[in-house]
Parts: sequence; structure tokens; C-alpha cells
Amino acid sequence: APILQLRGIRKRYNIGTPVEAEVLHGIDVTLQQAEFVALTGPSGSGKSTLLNIIGLLEHTTAGTLEIAGQRADGLDDAGLTQLRGATIGFVFQFHHLLPAFSALENVMLPSMIGHGTATPEAEATARDLLVRVGLKGAEHKRPGELSGGMQQRVAIARALSLRPRLILADEPTGNLDTVTADEIFALLREFNRDHGSACLIVTHDPRLAGSCDRTIQLVDGRLVSD
Ligand code: ADP
Ligand code: ADP
Repeated sequence: APILQLRGIRKRYNIGTPVEAEVLHGIDVTLQQAEFVALTGPSGSGKSTLLNIIGLLEHTTAGTLEIAGQRADGLDDAGLTQLRGATIGFVFQFHHLLPAFSALENVMLPSMIGHGTATPEAEATARDLLVRVGLKGAEHKRPGELSGGMQQRVAIARALSLRPRLILADEPTGNLDTVTADEIFALLREFNRDHGSACLIVTHDPRLAGSCDRTIQLVDGRLVSD
């Protein structure tokens, strides 16, 4: 079964009645397990909105959405939260790391949410992930003590901590230099290969998009090529 299936997804924002703006006009996409896919398109074309819908952070106006074989449209917020936690890992451009917490604590966070406490297993997993992303020795550093590239590595380790089957990355290399961007991309690719997690990555960089298995392009809220 595909990891992700979208059919006829529409999204309208209420920007003050009676004005309604439709920003996605019926999107059909299927992502297979372990696919590594770039999402490109001009600014304002709807990439973030689409990613937020797939990430179950925003409701759709119309259409159907299935993740890991489960229908997501029509779920209430509790249902969305549960499905999101069970299947999806997020990597944001500006990290969203908690500044007062260490790298290790930041990576352990997703496993603490829901359990309320960090199990020894969660800590062992977090330590192992930090080694894998090249941050051995930086476990107890706070985000502010790390470079942008290192912060993005922490964000990736955190996104992977629950072994998500689908990784959503919104310009994960947008604010990084070329070498660091390549390293971050390679990390995502490695996790994709090792665990069979599908990745959907918003990127403006044609070179990075070219290294993906497939590119989806949005223009004005419509898919123009796949
Ligand atoms: P991209 O990520 O490709 O730059 P976005 O998904 O951020 O595109 O935005 C697509 C369109 O939707 C833009 O016209 C944007 O202004 C509009 N938009 C995004 N979020 C909202 C919102 N919360 N309310 C109203 N309009 C929005
Ligand atoms: P990007 O293009 O880098 O994804 P944007 O500036 O389009 O970022 O959007 C940043 C955030 O602001 C997103 O969460 C988006 O949904 C929201 N947003 C964008 N446009 C609007 C808008 N016209 N009204 C309200 N929120 C918006």
C-alpha cells in the first residue's frame, strides 16, 4: 500500500467574509513507501500549505487523504494528533528546537510527549541518533551553542526519533551553505535507505531536487508536473 494518497485536495482560507481564497485547487498525489521526493514551485504556490495538510497540521477544504492506509480527512484533532505521532516526522527550516534544552533533550522530546517521561530506551535511541548525525560529544550543548548545520542535524535526529514512515521537510537546507546542505540531504537519504521511510522535501534548489527519485511541482495551487 502507498504511504500517502491524496485525491482532489482543495484548501480555501477565509480571509475575512465574503472573501475566500482557494490556494490548492484539487491535488492528486501518491507516494510509495521509501520514495524520496522533492516538492518544488514558486513562492506562494502552496507548498507549505500542502506540506501542512499532509502533516495533518491543517484541515482540508475538500478531498481525501490517506496516510499508511488510514483515512485522515474527517478525523478529529485527537485522531489527527495520534496518526501524526505514529507516522510522521517533521524537519523545519528554522529548527524549532527548544533553546533551553540540550541537543539530547530536544531529540528525546517526541518520545516524552505521550509518555510524559523519557524512558531509558528513548535516551539510548536519542544518543544513537545523535552519533549517526555526526553530533557525538555535542549531546549536552544547547541549540544556541551549535552552528546552523549542527542545529539542523539535531532537528533531523529529533524528526527520526520515533522512526516515522513519512518524513516531511520544509526547505531543510534553505539557510545552509552548499557543503552543509549536501550533508543534510545525505543524512535524509541515508535514513530513507536504511529504514525505508518515505521523504517529501520542499526545496528551491534544482540541484538537490535533481538528486531525488521524483519531483512534484506546484504552480498556483496546481500540480503541473510529476
Ligand atoms: P509556498 O509555501 O509555496 O510559498 P504557501 O502555502 O505558504 O506557499 O502559500 C500559498 C498561498 O496561500 C499564498 O497565497 C499565501 O499567501 C496563502 N496562505 C498561506 N497560509 C495562509 C493563511 N493561513 N491564511 C490565508 N492565506 C494563506
Ligand atoms: P514560505 O513561503 O517560506 O513557506 P510563507 O511566508 O509563505 O513561507 O508563510 C509562512 C507562514 O505564514 C505559513 O505558516 C503560512 O501558512 C502563513 N501565511 C502565509 N501567507 C499568509 C497569509 N496571507 N495570511 C495568513 N497566513 C499566511
